Amino acid sequence: MREIYLDNSATTRCFPEVAELMSRIYLEDYGNPSSMHHKGVEAEKEIRNARQILAGILKVQPGNLVFTSCGTEGDNLALIGCAMANQRKGRHLITTPIEHPAVLETMKYLETQGFEVTILPVDRQGLVDPADVASAVREDTILVSVMHTNNEIGTVEPVAEIGEAIKAKNPATLFHVDAVQGFGKARIYPKRMKIDLLTVSGHKIHAAKGTGFLYVGDKVRIQNILFGGGQQKGLRSGTENTAGTAGMALAAKMLYDSFDTDIERLYGLRDAFIARVTRIPGVKINGKTDHSGAPHIISVTVPGVRAEVLLHALEDKGVYVSAGSACASNRPHVSGTLTAIGLDKEDLDSTIRISMSVMTTEGDMEAAAAALEEIVPFLRRYTRH
Ligand code: PLP
Repeated sequence: MREIYLDNSATTRCFPEVAELMSRIYLEDYGNPSSMHHKGVEAEKEIRNARQILAGILKVQPGNLVFTSCGTEGDNLALIGCAMANQRKGRHLITTPIEHPAVLETMKYLETQGFEVTILPVDRQGLVDPADVASAVREDTILVSVMHTNNEIGTVEPVAEIGEAIKAKNPATLFHVDAVQGFGKARIYPKRMKIDLLTVSGHKIHAAKGTGFLYVGDKVRIQNILFGGGQQKGLRSGTENTAGTAGMALAAKMLYDSFDTDIERLYGLRDAFIARVTRIPGVKINGKTDHSGAPHIISVTVPGVRAEVLLHALEDKGVYVSAGSACASNRPHVSGTLTAIGLDKEDLDSTIRISMSVMTTEGDMEAAAAALEEIVPFLRRYTRH
């Protein structure tokens, strides 16, 4: 059976070029970048090259990047690191209810450490209003964390306007953006957008699991959360993941080299898919359906059918999607984003997420739409109302 993988916001398949590069590094340039001999120097070169590529994409300096093991680590380092380093200036933090648990759970931890956290409202599309951010920022606000692209419904937040609003109110307040779902799908320039800290994860952009980075702006003070050998200017002790980091830079370069055509193609696939599945009676799309939403994430509510049942029925046809947000964990949980945008209990249980990548084809999306057209009426017959 043909495999139709539409769970790219959970994770992506590695680009073959990335896997090849990593394999060569594992087998040849396997030295420790901190070693002083030739093998170390070769590995160090790979890391330096990766820094340059990624910094070039963001239009920042290579020294502004800290390589991490995943998006979760980047978010933790940004939030805890900022809170610890700046607590004398204030203990107030701001975030939104639609953040990934890597941010929300870290905020909860910081509350137990004596920090005060304000959760901003979002509208029915999951949008944060920059004016709300401005009125929430206080003298003692040390950090605002708002994601770039929501992982469940694909809402793209007005981060540049939010950055502007924060700095106008309190120039000392730092701005963190979780760009795990946005990097590779949007052009993101931290300096222009007044972003001080930016989290990226490698496995969402066709690189390896266990890779990521945090951008830390000039003069932004954060404290390290790992203690050890002092690698990466002491901000992230631990031997660098040379192969993974080089692979992540190559994946990012590949995505941004063909950015415009790929994004346009994805929007085309998304528009066609939405037009087709919304003809199934009752089917609704959550979040933005115009091109202000992300090109790759489609949140589909199918009233009268439980998401888990639908997911497995699609799986039987070789189509892989997720129920709510798979990247949180596999334990059953109520979706924070869908609750925050006001979905009722029944719709919450009847929502699946379809997420594409540059590897997704027109045939994949047509097959997925056809599978839904066939399955939904069938499953509804067996659902008691
Ligand atoms: N932030 C967002 C928005 C995500 O979608 C994810 C996905 O899992 C994460 C953070 C965590 O990233 P990682 O899986 O690399 O830890």
